[in-house]
Amino acid sequence: MRREPAPNIVLGAIADDFTGATDLANNLVRSGMRTLQVIGVPSAALSLENVDAVVVALKSRSCPAADAIRDSLAALDWLQAQGARQVFFKYCSTFDSTDDGNIGPVADALLDQLGSKQTVMVPAFPINGRTVYQGHLFVGDRLLNDSGMQHHPLNPMRDADLVRVLAGQTSHQVGLLNRATLAKGAPAASAHLSDLQQAGGRHVICDTLDESDLEVIAAAVVEMPLVTGGSGLGQALPAEYRKKGWLSPVENAGRLAPASGAALVLSGSCSRATLGQVEHFLGRHEGLALDPLALAESDAPIEEALNFARARLSGAADGPVLIYASAAPQAVEAAQASLGAARAGELVERALATIAQTLVAEGVGRLLVAGGETSGAVVSALGVGELRIGEQIDPGVPWTQTQVAGREAPLSLALKSGNFGGVDFFTRAFEVLNEQSAAREEGA
Ligand code: ADP
Repeated sequence: MRREPAPNIVLGAIADDFTGATDLANNLVRSGMRTLQVIGVPSAALSLENVDAVVVALKSRSCPAADAIRDSLAALDWLQAQGARQVFFKYCSTFDSTDDGNIGPVADALLDQLGSKQTVMVPAFPINGRTVYQGHLFVGDRLLNDSGMQHHPLNPMRDADLVRVLAGQTSHQVGLLNRATLAKGAPAASAHLSDLQQAGGRHVICDTLDESDLEVIAAAVVEMPLVTGGSGLGQALPAEYRKKGWLSPVENAGRLAPASGAALVLSGSCSRATLGQVEHFLGRHEGLALDPLALAESDAPIEEALNFARARLSGAADGPVLIYASAAPQAVEAAQASLGAARAGELVERALATIAQTLVAEGVGRLLVAGGETSGAVVSALGVGELRIGEQIDPGVPWTQTQVAGREAPLSLALKSGNFGGVDFFTRAFEVLNEQSAAREEGA
């Protein structure tokens, strides 16, 4: 009798951007799955011992559809080789896509490669105000096309009717699993999905008003080879995996190795939330500002910042200290008027990436980075390929751990995109780490 090899991981996810990947990974951990996030498709073998889910972070949201398909299929190939039981295509809860895709074309390509006939589309994230009713996506109390998303620079969303939006991205039939059916429970939802499939319905937009709708959907789709959606569905699926016996219960899926080394905050985000966090931090700890105009003249400000940090992170002192380019809108506009927005941004990103690389090599072991692009620059300078996801600091932002060259112990890394986090985020993040270490010692 032929025996199927035991799947190595329960869930393999393909996320269309980096912070979206982290958001999903964070929710999976909170629902009890030990999760690894990898940046791009790994080129080397990875140890997946004690890992229940892997999220592959791509940059495939707004690129040409052919590129998004190629990268997503490469990710799927890799996840299949790791024995993923279910595949999850993750996109934004506002269904961010261009006119030509990329949600429809990528979902079609993944279905073809998996040899599967149907998938669901579940973008909703009710706790963040993203709900779907009669196939229409709402952000808070506004329809998607009236929520500000109609002005997005890369993927403006001008239609809230997701059945119609998706029908413009695929030649296959798009159906709807509506709220009235969900209210009857998972068996009714499953029966409706089968009926749709019989009639050729390949993609099914799912209504979702609240968490209980997500639970019904998760129960109805747990056996599907491919599901698609936002991180809300990611929060609901693990309970179904446990019911199936696929997932062994763990005490704390976000448990990381003890953190060690000096603490540094690097901030290149100029969002309102980050500016408040910088100010709050400076009221309690020391920091140094970087000026893009001075960076355009020479590398002297980088040296100055390194020396500032070294003086405060040596001996028994282990921080945190802050190096930041974050500045109020007038200062950003002045720098951009003089240097151009792209060059000002590049100068700051390169400086912060160099500072991260140098100070991690010198003993920084707890690093917090603010800014999406800034995080990308730092992660690539450090050569980070994979992140083990730990406990959440604030919604959507967990501590992570990674192994970097030149450092024996793991590096604790928190990557915060602009508008995330409460005003005390920069200080509380380190308290969360300390609490984790204390709890571990107590438990030991
Ligand atoms: P967010 O997540 O808040 O959007 P990002 O890091 O993605 O933050 O983007 C902020 C951009 O602004 C980066 O490219 C960064 O280099 C740039 N930047 C940071 N500080 C300044 C400044 N003082 N003047 C001009 N540009 C800046």
